[in-house]
Amino acid sequence: MKITTDGLVIREQSLKEQDKVLTVLTSANGIIRAFIHGAKSIKSPKSTASGLLTYSDFEIYKSRDNYIIDDARAKEVFMPVRRDIEKLALGQYFCELLAVLAPEESQADDFLRLALNALYFLSKGDRPVSVIKSAFELKLMTMAGFMPDLTCCCECGCYEHENMIFIPESGKLLCGDCSGISKKKHIQTGISITHAMRHCVYSEMKKLFAFTLPDDALSVLEYASENYIAAQVPKNFKTLDFYKTLRI
Ligand SMILES: [Zn+2]
Repeated sequence: MKITTDGLVIREQSLKEQDKVLTVLTSANGIIRAFIHGAKSIKSPKSTASGLLTYSDFEIYKSRDNYIIDDARAKEVFMPVRRDIEKLALGQYFCELLAVLAPEESQADDFLRLALNALYFLSKGDRPVSVIKSAFELKLMTMAGFMPDLTCCCECGCYEHENMIFIPESGKLLCGDCSGISKKKHIQTGISITHAMRHCVYSEMKKLFAFTLPDDALSVLEYASENYIAAQVPKNFKTLDFYKTLRI
């Protein structure tokens, strides 16, 4: 069966000679692992199209057990991300998250759109990197079935409280009046950070990256979204560890 789809290369592994195995987040079939022949030849258009963090059009042959990429043409290479080691490391972390959280063998155009939008804004450079990172993390978790419940305090229904806390283990909020009942690890999110988290989870994709917070609040937002992933997804993301070494 032949499949024509667009997709983002989220992992590349070299094989012998000119061959590679790619992990691609495709719009048509979600995450697939596919062989590509002749992709290391500089003269081949497949070389550019099969690089990590490249958005390409693919023609793929699907047999019972394997995917083989017949042809690939790059549509966007996100050059400003490649030229900046910190952005590149963040892009690689996004790829590692997608590899774990995006669906396999089913349509995933919304996941692909989220990834492309995040890379687009990273390339453009007019939004704080922390905004892009937290928005990507929380929206991806939401889309992947790990939507936190940020509507109100889970005990009394209070919508807004200056001492609101977020509990990563349950993905729920408690207001300052109810926070005493929690014995779990929690993070003080107050009013502004709670609002920003709600925005990341509930807003439409086109508005996702359009919010601002002061730097100290952004740090707490990042801390909250990272801790939420750590509490829900049993995996150590090495690319995140590396990204953090670059920001110290
Ligand atoms: Zn309450």
